[in-house]
Amino acid sequence: MNGVAARYKDIRRRVAAAARAVGREPDAVTLVAVSKTFGETEILPVIEAGQLVFGENRVQEAQSKWPALRQRFPGLQLHLIGPLQSNKVKDAVALFEVIESVDRDKIARAIGDELAKQDRRLEIYVQVNTGAEPQKSGIAPQETVSFVARCRTEYGLAVSGLMCIPPLDEDPGPHFALLAKLAGECGVEKLSMGMSADFETAVEMGATHVRVGSAIFGER
Ligand SMILES: *Cc1c(COP(=O)(O)O)cnc(C)c1O
Repeated sequence: MNGVAARYKDIRRRVAAAARAVGREPDAVTLVAVSKTFGETEILPVIEAGQLVFGENRVQEAQSKWPALRQRFPGLQLHLIGPLQSNKVKDAVALFEVIESVDRDKIARAIGDELAKQDRRLEIYVQVNTGAEPQKSGIAPQETVSFVARCRTEYGLAVSGLMCIPPLDEDPGPHFALLAKLAGECGVEKLSMGMSADFETAVEMGATHVRVGSAIFGER
């Protein structure tokens, strides 16, 4: 079997095992296969092994590879997990089913306007900068509840989840716990947290979505 497909199946198995270990249904956790920087050679075996949900961090790169694959594989679901610039909102709304990286008023308003214009309904998650890192995108933890409220009432966004990327050099557990607590306060059910190095911890702590790239596709 192709190396990528074998790694993919192993990750699926580990996600399911991590869920069962804490009494959760494996189906309660969606694996988002993060395919950024990889092309059809690596992506096709993963689709053929049954994966339909993929994450990309750049709009332009996603546009260059996914429309052709969508023609062949209906049912694909694309998540935007990288920072979104205003001039890419139109394309992002047209291409993705889920935008996980909404983190400021300007972009929230632009997405709301564009959803109305294109008559599209996307799932929207708010990205939280749980480590308050100056260089990292995401809304500050203490501003999350009010930002989610503004997204709903002012920008017409049906926010259904939160996403975080913990600081590289810290134990991710407290960041996952903070995200779960904020989700409760915001009244959202989706928790996108956990990557190649820590997805099992994230599943233990309630992740509904784990975003796994290099453990499936290899080093970038
Ligand atoms: C690249 C990326 C991932 C996947 O990271 P890996 O460590 O390769 O699993 C997850 N989330 C975001 C936001 C990313 O940009």
